[in-house]
Amino acid sequence: MSVWDEVVGQERQVEPLRAAVADPVAMTHAWLITGPPGSGRSYAARAFAAALQCPQGGCGTCRECVTALSGAHADVTLVATEKVTISIQEVRDLISQAASSPSQGRWRVMVVEDADRMTERTSNVLLKSIEEPPPRTVWLLCAPSPQDVAVTIRSRCRIIGLTTPEPEDVARLLASRDGIEPGLALECALAAQSHIGVARRLARDPEARARRDQVLALATEIRGVGDAIFAAADLVEVAEADAKAATEERDGAERAELLAMLGVEDGTRMPPALRAQLRQLEEDQKRRATRHKRDVLDRAITDLMSLYRDVAVVQTGATVRLVNVTHEGHVRDLAARTTLADTMRCLDALGTARERLAGNVAPLLALEAMALDLRPHGPVGGTR
Ligand SMILES: [Zn+2]
Repeated sequence: MSVWDEVVGQERQVEPLRAAVADPVAMTHAWLITGPPGSGRSYAARAFAAALQCPQGGCGTCRECVTALSGAHADVTLVATEKVTISIQEVRDLISQAASSPSQGRWRVMVVEDADRMTERTSNVLLKSIEEPPPRTVWLLCAPSPQDVAVTIRSRCRIIGLTTPEPEDVARLLASRDGIEPGLALECALAAQSHIGVARRLARDPEARARRDQVLALATEIRGVGDAIFAAADLVEVAEADAKAATEERDGAERAELLAMLGVEDGTRMPPALRAQLRQLEEDQKRRATRHKRDVLDRAITDLMSLYRDVAVVQTGATVRLVNVTHEGHVRDLAARTTLADTMRCLDALGTARERLAGNVAPLLALEAMALDLRPHGPVGGTR
């Protein structure tokens, strides 16, 4: 067993990281690990951090490995923001941590999982530490692509470019690590288009699969304007419920922790001097919920795109595999009832909705416009 076992389908890509563990001469103080969402870039960074701390170079089972992977290792700092941007203060704190030598391990490893979420000003602050790192400090930055990181930063990093793993590789991981039945594992890996985290959630949570089916059903259920408006409202509601479920428990725990730290009992009057701290926390939590909601909606749109992509595959007679194998009947039905031009129009509408959401348009507005565009147009689509 080794920490690299779970970096699936990237054997060649992670070779420089393994070499750096084995031979200090091959070591570099700053790495940029890129790859599409779900390709496992943050896992690869943690695996590298573990391998650097492990006396056996990444056995996967010793205390060093286990704590480095989980983020509990004293010499491994993991930064995973759930906010839209990493603040300049957070980066300053990281830099001061990075300046101290490792307390027990061989290296001080600083992992920044969303290095693309830094403004240019923040990047410039980080740049200094990356240019002249303390001798035992290693920076591991992760981002979707090198272009997502300021050029000044990426020119000082060695770049490890992960690729989208094959669905079979993802399915094998789900089966071996999470004990998922192999047939279901492959079905979910395909549906998630090889996004490891999404595939795992689908495989382990029947409700997540049901929600996805519900989203895909929109493709055939929207007939008129009324349906479109309802469908958009439904999607936003599902996203809000999902965000609430995902954040509520943690919000409460964080609040209790902050109050305890400030020495205030919940329910009593908060001294004015401490209110700013609580307000800051509440703002962070609100931003996190907003991001979660947008992520859920973005996922829903991506799922719908995968369905229309399958419809286009059938319509053009291409011989590639369908993403939504469990919806093949549904896909063939839609392919027979519509034209390729219809499908392209729907894909455009979905793409536009994604852009609008990313550009901070109110979700309901973006989705209503999208749902209206998904209605069947022209004589082939039929029922208006
Ligand atoms: Zn180990």
